[in-house]
Amino acid sequence: MIWTILIALAAALAAVLAIPAARRALISDPLLRVFRRILPPMSPTEQEAIDAGTVWWDGELFSGRPDWAKLIAFPQPKLTPEELSFLDHETEQLCAMASDWETSHVHYDLPPHVWQFVKDKGFLGMIIPKKYGGKEFSAYAHSQVVTKLSSRCSVAAVHVMVPNSLGPAELLRHYGTEAQKNHYLPRLAKGIEIPAFALTNPHAGSDAASIPDTGIVCKGMWEGREITGMRLTWDKRYITLGPICTVLGLAFRLYDPEHLLGDKEDLGITCALVHTNTPGVEIGRRHLPLDAVFQNGPTAGRNVFVPIDWIIGGPEMAGQGWRMLMECLAAGRSISLPSTSCGYSKLAVRATGAYARVRRQFKTPIGRFEGVEEALARMGGNLYMMEATRILTATAVDMGEKPSVISAIAKYHLTERGRAVVNDAMDVLGGKGICLGPRNFMGRAYQQLPVAITVEGANILTRSLIIFGQGAIRCHPWVLAEMNAAHEPDHAKASRDFDRALWGHVRFALSNGVRSLLLGVTGSHWTRVPDVAPETRRHFQKLTRFSAAFAFLADVSMLVLGGGLKRREKLSARLGDVLSYMYLCSAALKRYEDQGRQQADLPLLEWSVWDAMFRAQNAIEGVISNYPSGLVAWFLQRIIFPLGRPYVVPSDRLGHEVARLLIAPSGARDRLTAGIYLPKSESEVVGCLEAALEAAIRAEEVDQKIRAAQKDGRLKATKAGELAQAAAETGVITPEEHALLRRATQLRDEVIKVDDFPQDFGLSQIMPPAHTLTTRAAA
Ligand SMILES: Cc1cc2nc3c(=O)[nH]c(=O)nc-3n(C[C@H](O)[C@H](O)[C@H](O)COP(=O)(O)OP(=O)(O)OC[C@H]3O[C@@H](n4cnc5c(N)ncnc54)[C@H](O)[C@@H]3O)c2cc1C
Repeated sequence: MIWTILIALAAALAAVLAIPAARRALISDPLLRVFRRILPPMSPTEQEAIDAGTVWWDGELFSGRPDWAKLIAFPQPKLTPEELSFLDHETEQLCAMASDWETSHVHYDLPPHVWQFVKDKGFLGMIIPKKYGGKEFSAYAHSQVVTKLSSRCSVAAVHVMVPNSLGPAELLRHYGTEAQKNHYLPRLAKGIEIPAFALTNPHAGSDAASIPDTGIVCKGMWEGREITGMRLTWDKRYITLGPICTVLGLAFRLYDPEHLLGDKEDLGITCALVHTNTPGVEIGRRHLPLDAVFQNGPTAGRNVFVPIDWIIGGPEMAGQGWRMLMECLAAGRSISLPSTSCGYSKLAVRATGAYARVRRQFKTPIGRFEGVEEALARMGGNLYMMEATRILTATAVDMGEKPSVISAIAKYHLTERGRAVVNDAMDVLGGKGICLGPRNFMGRAYQQLPVAITVEGANILTRSLIIFGQGAIRCHPWVLAEMNAAHEPDHAKASRDFDRALWGHVRFALSNGVRSLLLGVTGSHWTRVPDVAPETRRHFQKLTRFSAAFAFLADVSMLVLGGGLKRREKLSARLGDVLSYMYLCSAALKRYEDQGRQQADLPLLEWSVWDAMFRAQNAIEGVISNYPSGLVAWFLQRIIFPLGRPYVVPSDRLGHEVARLLIAPSGARDRLTAGIYLPKSESEVVGCLEAALEAAIRAEEVDQKIRAAQKDGRLKATKAGELAQAAAETGVITPEEHALLRRATQLRDEVIKVDDFPQDFGLSQIMPPAHTLTTRAAA
């Protein structure tokens, strides 16, 4: 009897599902009404953020069936001869001219001749088209330049990076009128104009769309005649290049109370270019962001009258500012901070690895101690994945994408990993990393990485709100279509669109649930992957499994939590982590293929993928174990991990192999740290470290000869300082070997030195004593 009823119900359901009109009337339309009620309200600014940018490889990862052949076929970025030459000559020269120590402790700025070099050589116009006098470099070339500069001098890197990121040039390129482009772009390319972009207000940091800065459309006098213009009032802070800029890209909310532009009173966020010599513009004061001396400071203006055609794109673009910013954010965010983080980290890995071999304690190079090895392994593994992600993300931009979700992933994960690499380097270096001075190559990066964490979308916010929040809507094949249908005013169209999206979504979720279970039970061994290196095949298969599991988990989370997911930031952050780790692993695997499957790099790849997949697994666990419904959590656990958790932490053996790569010269080490500035002179600490590493390794062989001679009695025990001399005199080592030992010792002594300063750090030489100042003030 029960079976008859069940079969009849199933048949009725099948009939309803098969007949579109019935399906819509009985299921889809009622669900549409519910969906409209529970859909969280979306402000126009949120909508613009969602609409901005494009979906790329992130869409594949969200699909549950990533097409790996597509990933492998993405082009490998290449430099043109002009770009290559710019890196090898102008960029190399700029690195030689400016160091972190001199800029931050001697000049508190880029010295004027270095700034002039930056302008003259076109560093400020890398993204400006050639027809406007710029360099029109690829995103990849731009990224290479910033990476190299960051490995040497953070002030130079920031001063070059900012004008080439989101700011006047980028906005003009996309939205400027022809007249604005013709006027500004050639001047920006040559550094005749210095740009800054001012969005942040003391009351609106992360919530930038709520800026209280205003523009009022009004009539006013300009150069002797009455024109339509805007009275601007703003209070901005933290503005990079603000203290020295000549043209300020200003974001404010524009109002038109007299309806001079049209019917609307509140036009919305608007961007204009304001000459800083306009009466009423206040610039010049500086912040000191963690001892970084790039130009950064506040700017303000009160009722500053400017022409209406100073709006970027002219009056027709009034109120379009937020859309413009969101659309342009992806390109800059994909390049600037990922490149800086890679620059710092490459320097950290190269120089700290060398130091760990040269510095000896307990008669052993410190890099051979297991504890230090652990830190070195993290550094190497993290950098391999960071560099791969930087390159893949720049590839996306060069392919014409505006990857909004991927740029958020790259910004968050590369700055966080950069911080982890630099922190590990600091621990390995001990006191050598702590005492600042020209001999310290890591202290500056350590101080300045938090700046990268904070800007272009502070990291906590980016992880908690943006990566999955935006990703779930943008990358999911059906969610955006459902939301659009819910907002559609035409009832018939809404019903049709929603029905299509809903059932597409149901099929998608069910298929991913079933596949997730099957791939879990079979260990994904039978998953098809394209022709990749046999040693990486399993990683592709396991990633496919994680992609199906992630897509299913994301759907169930959206179903169970609905609009509440937006407020459950911890769950949203973990879901974003899973998506991010899959992107990072994709990048690492592609890098391995693109670089010709370098066997020597395999430990780096293996460590980084195991680590990221272990973290992805933990993030999935973190979502499931914090689900509000125990029953759903139980069910998800069985579907996603039917036979338990597949990943453990990368093994100690693997970590040992990675650490070994960092403490000796090799092709793998060169590939990992390629593109940084390596001073040739031994009078510079990094140059000296390179020489000291070579010498230390060769000296180790000579040391072994001496030890062997001591053991078999050919060399009698001598005081430590005299051992080499005695070995040379008794013929245990040759005069050349003796010279080599002396050179290795000399270089080691040089490398381990730290700087010291007079009691008052030399201030008395550049400033009169404090009591003189008081006496003068009293007088
Ligand atoms: C050195 C430097 C240079 C800068 N350059 C420029 C520039 O050139 N132009 C410009 O316009 N601005 C610039 N900024 C501003 C920068 O973009 C802001 O600092 C950033 O947006 C964060 O704002 P806030 O510092 O006020 O932090 P807050 O907004 O106060 O945030 C504090 C913390 O709360 C977190 N948080 C906030 N909201 C949420 C949320 N919903 N969920 C989870 N966490 C949240 C943030 O992640 C952060 O950790 C710069 C800042 C610095 C420090």
